[in-house]
Amino acid sequence: MIIELQNNISTQDKEAILNKIESLSYAFTEVITQTGHYVVGKNGIELDKAQFDTLGGIKHLHYGLSNYKLVSRQWKTQATKIQLNNNSIIQDGGFSIIAGPCAIESEDQIETIIKHLADNNITMMRGGIFKPRTSPYSFQGLGLEGLKQLHNVASSKGIGIISEVMDISQIEEMYDYVSAFQIGARNSQNYNLLKALGKTNKPILLKRGISSTLDELLNSAEHIYSSGNEQIILCERGIRTYENAYRNTFDLNAVPVLKEKTHLPIIVDPSHGIGISRHIESMALAGVMAGADGILLEVHENPAQALSDGQQSIDFKTAESLYRKLSATYDLRSSFEA
Ligand code: PEP
Ligand code: MN
Repeated sequence: MIIELQNNISTQDKEAILNKIESLSYAFTEVITQTGHYVVGKNGIELDKAQFDTLGGIKHLHYGLSNYKLVSRQWKTQATKIQLNNNSIIQDGGFSIIAGPCAIESEDQIETIIKHLADNNITMMRGGIFKPRTSPYSFQGLGLEGLKQLHNVASSKGIGIISEVMDISQIEEMYDYVSAFQIGARNSQNYNLLKALGKTNKPILLKRGISSTLDELLNSAEHIYSSGNEQIILCERGIRTYENAYRNTFDLNAVPVLKEKTHLPIIVDPSHGIGISRHIESMALAGVMAGADGILLEVHENPAQALSDGQQSIDFKTAESLYRKLSATYDLRSSFEA
Protein backbone atom coordinates (compact mmCIF):
# COMPACT_ATOMS: atom_id res chain seq x y z
CA MET A 1 0.00 0.00 0.00
CA ILE A 2 1.16 3.55 -0.75
CA ILE A 3 -0.38 6.56 0.89
CA GLU A 4 0.47 9.38 -1.48
CA LEU A 5 0.62 12.62 0.47
CA GLN A 6 0.02 16.07 -0.89
CA ASN A 7 3.33 17.76 -1.59
CA ASN A 8 2.40 20.79 0.51
CA ILE A 9 0.97 18.72 3.37
CA SER A 10 0.94 20.58 6.69
CA THR A 11 2.96 19.24 9.61
CA GLN A 12 -0.26 18.69 11.59
CA ASP A 13 -1.89 16.66 8.82
CA LYS A 14 1.24 14.55 8.43
CA GLU A 15 1.49 13.93 12.17
CA ALA A 16 -2.18 12.92 12.23
CA ILE A 17 -1.63 10.39 9.43
CA LEU A 18 1.51 8.94 11.01
CA ASN A 19 -0.17 8.76 14.45
CA LYS A 20 -3.13 7.01 12.92
CA ILE A 21 -1.10 4.32 11.21
CA GLU A 22 1.10 3.83 14.26
CA SER A 23 -2.03 3.35 16.37
CA LEU A 24 -3.00 0.56 13.96
CA SER A 25 0.42 -1.09 14.52
CA TYR A 26 1.15 -0.69 10.84
CA ALA A 27 4.81 -0.86 9.84
CA PHE A 28 5.62 1.82 7.28
CA THR A 29 8.39 3.91 5.72
CA GLU A 30 8.06 7.58 4.94
CA VAL A 31 9.60 8.44 1.57
CA ILE A 32 10.27 11.91 0.18
CA THR A 33 11.56 11.92 -3.40
CA GLN A 34 12.27 14.73 -5.85
CA THR A 35 8.59 15.02 -6.78
CA GLY A 36 6.59 13.01 -4.27
CA HIS A 37 5.88 12.34 -0.63
CA TYR A 38 4.66 8.90 0.42
CA VAL A 39 4.00 6.58 3.29
CA VAL A 40 4.70 3.04 2.12
CA GLY A 41 3.38 0.07 4.02
CA LYS A 42 5.68 -2.81 4.88
CA ASN A 43 4.90 -6.51 5.06
CA GLY A 44 2.11 -6.38 2.48
CA ILE A 45 -0.51 -5.21 4.98
CA GLU A 46 -3.20 -2.91 3.55
CA LEU A 47 -5.25 -0.60 5.74
CA ASP A 48 -8.94 0.01 5.29
CA LYS A 49 -9.71 3.15 3.30
CA ALA A 50 -12.30 4.16 5.92
CA GLN A 51 -9.45 4.70 8.43
CA PHE A 52 -8.29 7.70 6.41
CA ASP A 53 -11.60 9.32 5.49
CA THR A 54 -11.39 12.07 8.06
CA LEU A 55 -7.69 12.84 7.56
CA GLY A 56 -6.40 15.72 5.45
CA GLY A 57 -3.29 15.96 3.28
CA ILE A 58 -3.76 12.72 1.35
CA LYS A 59 -3.57 12.83 -2.42
CA HIS A 60 -4.32 9.18 -3.08
CA LEU A 61 -4.36 5.72 -1.51
CA HIS A 62 -2.89 3.01 -3.73
CA TYR A 63 -3.80 -0.61 -3.03
CA GLY A 64 -2.97 -4.00 -4.44
CA LEU A 65 0.61 -3.29 -5.48
CA SER A 66 3.34 -5.81 -6.26
CA ASN A 67 6.18 -6.45 -3.79
CA TYR A 68 8.06 -3.50 -5.32
CA LYS A 69 5.77 -0.52 -5.01
CA LEU A 70 7.11 2.94 -5.77
CA VAL A 71 8.69 1.87 -9.06
CA SER A 72 5.53 0.11 -10.17
CA ARG A 73 3.39 1.37 -13.02
CA GLN A 74 0.34 0.09 -11.16
CA TRP A 75 -0.05 3.41 -9.38
CA LYS A 76 2.16 5.85 -11.31
CA THR A 77 1.04 5.61 -14.88
CA GLN A 78 2.98 8.65 -16.02
CA ALA A 79 6.48 7.70 -17.15
CA THR A 80 9.44 9.09 -15.22
CA LYS A 81 11.68 11.34 -17.27
CA ILE A 82 15.37 11.62 -16.41
CA GLN A 83 17.26 14.81 -17.14
CA LEU A 84 20.92 13.82 -17.24
CA ASN A 85 22.32 17.23 -18.12
CA ASN A 86 21.26 20.29 -20.13
CA ASN A 87 21.61 18.32 -23.34
CA SER A 88 20.40 14.81 -22.44
CA ILE A 89 17.08 13.42 -21.35
CA ILE A 90 16.11 9.77 -21.09
CA GLN A 91 12.40 9.23 -21.33
CA ASP A 92 9.73 6.81 -22.38
CA GLY A 93 9.40 6.85 -26.15
CA GLY A 94 12.65 8.75 -26.71
CA PHE A 95 15.98 7.35 -27.80
CA SER A 96 19.36 8.49 -26.47
CA ILE A 97 22.82 7.22 -27.22
CA ILE A 98 25.39 6.93 -24.45
CA ALA A 99 28.76 5.87 -25.84
CA GLY A 100 32.36 5.58 -24.77
CA PRO A 101 35.03 3.10 -23.78
CA CYS A 102 34.58 0.39 -21.19
CA ALA A 103 37.27 2.09 -19.11
CA ILE A 104 38.95 5.48 -19.31
CA GLU A 105 42.56 4.64 -20.12
CA SER A 106 44.61 7.79 -20.75
CA GLU A 107 44.57 11.55 -21.28
CA ASP A 108 45.09 11.08 -25.02
CA GLN A 109 42.15 8.75 -25.19
CA ILE A 110 39.95 11.29 -23.41
CA GLU A 111 40.69 13.93 -26.08
CA THR A 112 40.09 11.47 -28.92
CA ILE A 113 36.86 10.05 -27.60
CA ILE A 114 35.35 13.41 -26.65
CA LYS A 115 36.08 14.70 -30.16
CA HIS A 116 34.38 11.61 -31.63
CA LEU A 117 31.29 12.11 -29.46
CA ALA A 118 31.09 15.86 -30.09
CA ASP A 119 31.45 15.34 -33.86
CA ASN A 120 28.50 12.94 -33.70
CA ASN A 121 26.32 15.13 -31.45
CA ILE A 122 26.41 12.63 -28.62
CA THR A 123 25.98 14.44 -25.32
CA MET A 124 26.43 11.62 -22.82
CA MET A 125 29.54 9.53 -22.44
CA ARG A 126 30.12 6.27 -20.61
CA GLY A 127 33.48 5.32 -19.18
CA GLY A 128 34.58 3.44 -16.10
CA ILE A 129 37.23 4.79 -13.77
CA PHE A 130 36.70 2.16 -11.09
CA LYS A 131 36.42 -1.14 -12.93
CA PRO A 132 34.87 -4.29 -11.49
CA ARG A 133 37.17 -6.86 -13.10
CA THR A 134 36.75 -10.57 -12.70
CA SER A 135 40.51 -10.94 -12.26
CA PRO A 136 42.41 -8.80 -9.74
CA TYR A 137 45.31 -8.74 -12.24
CA SER A 138 43.29 -7.01 -14.97
CA PHE A 139 43.29 -3.21 -15.39
CA GLN A 140 41.29 -1.77 -12.49
CA GLY A 141 40.71 1.73 -13.90
CA LEU A 142 42.44 5.12 -13.61
CA GLY A 143 40.55 6.13 -10.48
CA LEU A 144 39.41 9.59 -9.50
CA GLU A 145 42.20 11.53 -11.24
CA GLY A 146 41.06 10.04 -14.55
CA LEU A 147 37.51 11.14 -13.87
CA LYS A 148 38.58 14.70 -13.11
CA GLN A 149 40.54 14.95 -16.36
CA LEU A 150 37.66 13.48 -18.30
CA HIS A 151 35.23 15.88 -16.70
CA ASN A 152 37.34 18.90 -17.68
CA VAL A 153 37.41 17.93 -21.32
CA ALA A 154 33.85 16.59 -21.54
CA SER A 155 32.18 19.54 -19.84
CA SER A 156 33.88 22.00 -22.21
CA LYS A 157 31.89 20.29 -25.00
CA GLY A 158 28.62 19.98 -23.06
CA ILE A 159 29.09 16.22 -22.68
CA GLY A 160 28.05 14.55 -19.43
CA ILE A 161 29.63 11.44 -17.90
CA ILE A 162 28.14 8.23 -16.61
CA SER A 163 30.59 6.18 -14.60
CA GLU A 164 30.33 3.20 -12.32
CA VAL A 165 30.48 3.62 -8.57
CA MET A 166 31.61 0.47 -6.79
CA ASP A 167 31.60 1.55 -3.18
CA ILE A 168 29.74 3.95 -0.90
CA SER A 169 33.03 5.75 -0.16
CA GLN A 170 33.33 6.73 -3.85
CA ILE A 171 29.95 8.50 -4.06
CA GLU A 172 31.06 11.79 -2.58
CA GLU A 173 34.36 11.98 -4.46
CA MET A 174 32.72 11.22 -7.81
CA TYR A 175 29.64 13.37 -7.23
CA ASP A 176 30.78 16.64 -8.84
CA TYR A 177 32.12 14.95 -11.94
CA VAL A 178 29.32 12.67 -13.09
CA SER A 179 25.87 13.26 -14.59
CA ALA A 180 24.75 9.85 -13.37
CA PHE A 181 26.15 7.05 -11.26
CA GLN A 182 26.24 3.63 -12.88
CA ILE A 183 25.56 0.60 -10.73
CA GLY A 184 27.16 -2.37 -12.41
CA ALA A 185 25.69 -5.83 -12.79
CA ARG A 186 27.90 -7.15 -9.98
CA ASN A 187 26.59 -4.55 -7.56
CA SER A 188 22.99 -4.64 -8.70
CA GLN A 189 21.93 -6.22 -5.41
CA ASN A 190 24.40 -4.41 -3.16
CA TYR A 191 21.61 -2.96 -1.06
CA ASN A 192 23.80 -0.72 1.08
CA LEU A 193 25.21 0.90 -2.06
CA LEU A 194 21.70 1.22 -3.55
CA LYS A 195 20.37 2.88 -0.41
CA ALA A 196 23.32 5.27 -0.22
CA LEU A 197 22.76 6.31 -3.85
CA GLY A 198 19.08 6.69 -3.04
CA LYS A 199 20.06 9.48 -0.67
CA THR A 200 21.74 11.46 -3.46
CA ASN A 201 19.93 13.56 -6.03
CA LYS A 202 21.88 12.35 -9.07
CA PRO A 203 20.35 10.06 -11.67
CA ILE A 204 21.26 6.38 -11.31
CA LEU A 205 21.84 3.96 -14.16
CA LEU A 206 20.98 0.59 -12.64
CA LYS A 207 22.16 -2.46 -14.53
CA ARG A 208 20.43 -5.79 -14.28
CA GLY A 209 22.39 -8.28 -12.18
CA ILE A 210 24.28 -11.08 -13.86
CA SER A 211 21.52 -13.55 -13.06
CA SER A 212 18.77 -11.27 -11.80
CA THR A 213 15.13 -11.72 -12.59
CA LEU A 214 13.12 -8.63 -13.54
CA ASP A 215 11.48 -8.80 -10.14
CA GLU A 216 14.90 -8.62 -8.47
CA LEU A 217 15.93 -5.72 -10.72
CA LEU A 218 12.76 -3.82 -9.86
CA ASN A 219 13.29 -4.47 -6.16
CA SER A 220 16.82 -3.10 -6.49
CA ALA A 221 15.33 0.02 -8.06
CA GLU A 222 12.83 0.12 -5.20
CA HIS A 223 15.72 0.30 -2.71
CA ILE A 224 16.96 3.44 -4.46
CA TYR A 225 13.52 4.99 -4.85
CA SER A 226 12.41 4.30 -1.29
CA SER A 227 15.60 5.97 -0.05
CA GLY A 228 14.46 9.17 -1.79
CA ASN A 229 15.87 9.15 -5.32
CA GLU A 230 13.35 8.57 -8.09
CA GLN A 231 15.74 9.30 -10.96
CA ILE A 232 16.52 5.75 -12.01
CA ILE A 233 17.24 4.35 -15.47
CA LEU A 234 17.09 0.57 -15.80
CA CYS A 235 19.56 -1.16 -18.09
CA GLU A 236 19.25 -4.59 -19.68
CA ARG A 237 22.82 -5.85 -20.21
CA GLY A 238 22.31 -9.56 -20.67
CA ILE A 239 22.06 -12.33 -18.14
CA ARG A 240 23.91 -15.56 -17.55
CA THR A 241 22.18 -18.61 -18.95
CA TYR A 242 23.38 -22.07 -19.99
CA GLU A 243 24.22 -20.71 -23.45
CA ASN A 244 27.94 -20.04 -23.75
CA ALA A 245 28.31 -19.16 -27.42
CA TYR A 246 28.33 -15.49 -26.42
CA ARG A 247 29.18 -13.52 -23.30
CA ASN A 248 25.60 -13.18 -22.03
CA THR A 249 22.06 -13.81 -23.20
CA PHE A 250 20.86 -10.36 -24.23
CA ASP A 251 17.31 -10.48 -22.93
CA LEU A 252 15.36 -8.09 -25.12
CA ASN A 253 12.14 -9.62 -23.77
CA ALA A 254 12.90 -7.51 -20.72
CA VAL A 255 12.22 -4.24 -22.53
CA PRO A 256 8.48 -4.52 -23.30
CA VAL A 257 7.85 -6.45 -20.09
CA LEU A 258 9.60 -3.85 -17.91
CA LYS A 259 7.70 -1.11 -19.73
CA GLU A 260 4.48 -2.69 -18.48
CA LYS A 261 5.73 -3.15 -14.96
CA THR A 262 7.46 0.16 -14.24
CA HIS A 263 7.28 3.85 -15.02
CA LEU A 264 11.10 4.06 -15.10
CA PRO A 265 12.90 4.38 -18.46
CA ILE A 266 14.77 1.38 -19.85
CA ILE A 267 17.92 1.37 -21.92
CA VAL A 268 19.87 -1.54 -23.35
CA ASP A 269 23.57 -2.40 -23.46
CA PRO A 270 24.23 -4.73 -26.40
CA SER A 271 28.01 -4.50 -25.81
CA HIS A 272 27.83 -6.54 -22.61
CA GLY A 273 24.64 -8.20 -23.85
CA ILE A 274 26.29 -10.22 -26.57
CA GLY A 275 29.94 -9.35 -26.03
CA ILE A 276 31.03 -9.79 -29.66
CA SER A 277 31.83 -6.60 -31.55
CA ARG A 278 30.74 -7.75 -35.00
CA HIS A 279 27.24 -8.48 -33.67
CA ILE A 280 26.74 -5.25 -31.74
CA GLU A 281 25.06 -3.52 -34.65
CA SER A 282 22.26 -6.04 -35.16
CA MET A 283 21.52 -6.34 -31.44
CA ALA A 284 21.63 -2.57 -30.96
CA LEU A 285 19.08 -2.09 -33.75
CA ALA A 286 16.96 -4.89 -32.27
CA GLY A 287 17.05 -3.02 -28.96
CA VAL A 288 15.54 0.06 -30.60
CA MET A 289 12.74 -1.99 -32.13
CA ALA A 290 12.09 -3.70 -28.80
CA GLY A 291 11.20 -0.24 -27.48
CA ALA A 292 14.30 0.75 -25.50
CA ASP A 293 14.54 4.42 -24.50
CA GLY A 294 18.26 4.51 -25.14
CA ILE A 295 21.41 2.56 -25.69
CA LEU A 296 24.72 2.16 -23.92
CA LEU A 297 27.55 1.35 -26.31
CA GLU A 298 31.21 0.52 -25.80
CA VAL A 299 33.17 2.48 -28.38
CA HIS A 300 36.98 2.57 -28.45
CA GLU A 301 39.45 4.36 -30.74
CA ASN A 302 41.37 1.09 -31.16
CA PRO A 303 39.45 -1.91 -29.77
CA ALA A 304 42.37 -4.30 -30.34
CA GLN A 305 44.43 -2.28 -27.86
CA ALA A 306 41.66 -1.69 -25.30
CA LEU A 307 42.59 -2.40 -21.68
CA SER A 308 39.15 -3.88 -21.04
CA ASP A 309 36.28 -5.30 -23.12
CA GLY A 310 38.04 -4.76 -26.47
CA GLN A 311 36.33 -7.86 -27.88
CA GLN A 312 32.95 -6.16 -27.65
CA SER A 313 33.98 -2.57 -28.38
CA ILE A 314 33.38 -1.02 -31.79
CA ASP A 315 35.72 1.42 -33.49
CA PHE A 316 34.76 4.97 -34.48
CA LYS A 317 33.98 4.15 -38.09
CA THR A 318 31.64 1.30 -37.15
CA ALA A 319 30.11 3.45 -34.41
CA GLU A 320 29.39 6.33 -36.80
CA SER A 321 27.61 4.05 -39.19
CA LEU A 322 25.66 2.54 -36.28
CA TYR A 323 24.58 5.97 -34.94
CA ARG A 324 23.03 6.71 -38.35
CA LYS A 325 21.28 3.35 -38.45
CA LEU A 326 20.03 3.76 -34.88
CA SER A 327 18.53 7.09 -35.75
CA ALA A 328 16.84 5.71 -38.89
CA THR A 329 15.54 2.71 -36.91
CA TYR A 330 14.18 5.00 -34.22
CA ASP A 331 12.36 7.01 -36.88
CA LEU A 332 10.91 3.80 -38.26
CA ARG A 333 9.73 2.73 -34.79
CA SER A 334 8.17 6.15 -34.19
CA SER A 335 6.36 5.91 -37.51
CA PHE A 336 4.76 2.63 -36.35
CA GLU A 337 3.60 4.29 -33.14
CA ALA A 338 2.16 7.33 -34.92
C1 PEP B 1 30.54 -1.79 -17.91
O1 PEP B 1 29.55 -1.10 -18.21
O2 PEP B 1 31.67 -1.64 -18.37
C2 PEP B 1 30.32 -2.92 -16.98
C3 PEP B 1 31.26 -3.34 -16.15
O3 PEP B 1 29.10 -3.45 -17.13
P1 PEP B 1 28.33 -4.61 -16.31
O4 PEP B 1 28.27 -4.12 -14.91
O5 PEP B 1 27.00 -4.65 -17.00
O6 PEP B 1 29.13 -5.87 -16.48
MN1 MN C 1 32.72 -3.08 -20.11
